[in-house]
Amino acid sequence: MINIKLYGKLITDKQQLTTELIIKNGYGVYKKKGLWHCMQCGSTSVHDFYIYESKYTEVPITYCRKCVCLGRMDNNNSVMITKSVRHVSSAQYELKFPLTDQQNYASEKIVKAIIERQNLLLHAVTGAGKTEMIFNGIHYARNQGMNVAVISPRVDVVIEVSLRLKEVFKNEEVDIIYQEQPQQFNGHFVVSTVQQLFRFKQHFDVIFIDEVDAFPLSMDVTLMKAIKLASTYSYSHIFMTATPPKILLKTIAKENHILLPARYHQRPLPIPTFKYLKINPNKMQLTFLRILKQQTQSNRITLIFVNNISFMEKIYSIYKEHIAELTYVYSDDVYRFEKITQLRAGQYKVVFTTTILERGFTMAHLDVIVLNSQLFETATLIQIAGRVGRKADSPNGLVLFCHQGVSFSMLSARKKIKHMNNLAMKKGWIND
Ligand SMILES: [Zn+2]
Repeated sequence: MINIKLYGKLITDKQQLTTELIIKNGYGVYKKKGLWHCMQCGSTSVHDFYIYESKYTEVPITYCRKCVCLGRMDNNNSVMITKSVRHVSSAQYELKFPLTDQQNYASEKIVKAIIERQNLLLHAVTGAGKTEMIFNGIHYARNQGMNVAVISPRVDVVIEVSLRLKEVFKNEEVDIIYQEQPQQFNGHFVVSTVQQLFRFKQHFDVIFIDEVDAFPLSMDVTLMKAIKLASTYSYSHIFMTATPPKILLKTIAKENHILLPARYHQRPLPIPTFKYLKINPNKMQLTFLRILKQQTQSNRITLIFVNNISFMEKIYSIYKEHIAELTYVYSDDVYRFEKITQLRAGQYKVVFTTTILERGFTMAHLDVIVLNSQLFETATLIQIAGRVGRKADSPNGLVLFCHQGVSFSMLSARKKIKHMNNLAMKKGWIND
């Protein structure tokens, strides 16, 4: 193994260290003022700690259940925290295309927030070109020797963003860390999943958090705590999402909410249309078949979102007899990656899918249809609609919500999308 430095990290084995300084030594969980504390995830909630008697120890063992999947923290095994170190790098980067006015605007706001150690919420529509907006901020921070992390709850987003960053920051040592991928460099510029961030302590001056709301809701508080524990004493956190959750809107000062309503290709977001359609999962329906046929004949790729796997399997078995290029996919599907590769290769024209394709999936000539759309939440509907028209050479497409009664979420999603288009128009950031 190459000799890397584990700066600003929670360590369980001293053998891993060479010249790093240890600033804290103790047990993985410890009691303070009557409360258990976890060194790894920072939890102090009584519900997170499990206590049992052990015949090998004099006192009962207490461990943290909250972060046990990342390595068990207990009151029997000691852990160490190493001192963070800063290191300057040039962080030169190359842009293939000049930034749009909106991207420049966001980029300046980010640099300002980093200088002032402020938190920022970039409320950017789907397809706004978020990654390009952070280049200059990274450049500035690394030039000052600040440690930078770009994190996302989703591995697929981590992989995609890391490839883009490595491509533009050619001479930087970019650490890409997720489950199967350990740290390779000294951790000054990290792209990782949120879970991997739990291992860093008091290390990052700047953290970009992509798609923060894709994190399971119940983990919200833990997530915020982990991000804070991984940060230096004064820091800048930059949150980026198309659908900011309420907790985030509340936490970040209003003047630090930056609305980015335009897509990078400067065409408006497609507006959802509504259609009443009651799908019977046990019977072939001509209206729905006609829609499917129309889609396959129009040379489009259509994602059809459903909220229930057994419902999906039923309608698939009915309509596969009539539509040759049809498939379905869901998160536990063992052929998931294979099917998505085949979809990209043009083997399918219609895909029944659960919300796993709600984010991060980009392809040209895409239409989306949501079945039973009244059952979906506003944020999900906005993300689904956001799959359509992302490519500059195919900026339009169909967004159809098939419902059994228009819901508040559907109306809200449509209203929010329209609002962003109006705003972008007023700013002169789109031309249509
Ligand atoms: Zn924990």
